[in-house]
Amino acid sequence: MAKKEYKFNPQTLTYEVIAAPFQVRFYRLLRKILIGFILVSIVNFVFSYFFYTPKMYKINRDNSELILKYDLLQDKINAASQKIKEIKQRDIQVYRPLFAADTLQLSGIYTEYPNKKYAAFAGDHFEPVMQAAWKDLDAMTRLIYLESRSMDELQLLSQDKEKMALSVPAIWPIDKRKLRGSIGAFGGRNHPILGRYIAHKGIDLGAATGTPVYATGNATVIVDKNGGSGYGKQILLDHGFGYVTRYAHLSKVLVVPGQQVKRGKVIGEVGSTGRSTGPHLHYEVMYMGNNVDPINYFRRDMDEQEFERIIASAKETTYEAD
Ligand SMILES: [Zn+2]
Repeated sequence: MAKKEYKFNPQTLTYEVIAAPFQVRFYRLLRKILIGFILVSIVNFVFSYFFYTPKMYKINRDNSELILKYDLLQDKINAASQKIKEIKQRDIQVYRPLFAADTLQLSGIYTEYPNKKYAAFAGDHFEPVMQAAWKDLDAMTRLIYLESRSMDELQLLSQDKEKMALSVPAIWPIDKRKLRGSIGAFGGRNHPILGRYIAHKGIDLGAATGTPVYATGNATVIVDKNGGSGYGKQILLDHGFGYVTRYAHLSKVLVVPGQQVKRGKVIGEVGSTGRSTGPHLHYEVMYMGNNVDPINYFRRDMDEQEFERIIASAKETTYEAD
């Protein structure tokens, strides 16, 4: 209570209250409000320091729930990441080798994004939880992208697969029933004419002069040298997919360079031209520039009927360049 001011009135012989001026009264009121406010604030501050308000209780509970939910989310992300990694593993070990495709390399696919991408979480109380989840999701997204690129590539290769199956050398270059004597094997041997040990880059198939020689896979004729070298008259066929075949010591060459030939097409006739002791076909298979054993490229499961069917269908072929 503010002190009241009195004044003696000689007429009434009493003390009368002097009303304070308005400004002073206003000031006093303001002071009261201010003091009251400060007091309430102090009490509130002290109270809330030791006790939670109902609102804070709620916020706290919400936060705990949020962390729990983030943990569950992280578990789900980990499980999904694991699945993607398994798919990637299967892709590398099973699907890509089916098409002889190397492991797909995309630069930066395993590089984490710079930290500034996650700047929005910086200083946040839950930064570690949030950032880990985002980083894992980003890594997963990059792996999904890698796998989708790999699938695209394999799809293209699978379209080529049929063409590849028809092109890779896969049949005997002469009719097996017309073979004479034993087969000159691939690898090292004492050369019958040169009289010294040299590598034999193909196999020798003895047969009578004039025996038809077949293209062992769909190909383009790339060379047709008539004599000159030790190979005599020879044909080289480019099958694509890294494969080239050579047919040497021929008596006749029936194709020209640039010509497209189908598997089973008669391309020449057995002879004994070049460095040869008697009529035979010298047959080579090269893969990526290296000579490989042609025996491995004769389809073992092919019976005579199938061989004849291939030869017959080659006769009807319509896509030769000539
Ligand atoms: Zn030979």
